[in-house]
Amino acid sequence: MKVWIEQEYCTGDGLCEEICPQVFKLGDDGLAYVRDDGAVSSDGGKIGAVLVPEDLEDGVLDAQAECAGECIYVDR
Ligand code: SF4
Repeated sequence: MKVWIEQEYCTGDGLCEEICPQVFKLGDDGLAYVRDDGAVSSDGGKIGAVLVPEDLEDGVLDAQAECAGECIYVDR
């Protein structure tokens, strides 16, 4: 499964980072980004999509369900 965030719709509330900090991280610009193997992807949108380890898929889907901006996308 791959995940990415469309930052233009992100409210910056940080819920995704609270729910699944292994995958999501608020950036210096106050918007959420996805982590890629420890580093935070600096690319926004689908170009910044990263592969989600299997054991974190449930956390990503929980974050997606709670995302106020409805801007967390997954591709399976
Ligand atoms: S939960 Fe959604 S709106 Fe909130 S910080 Fe994360 S990506 Fe942005």
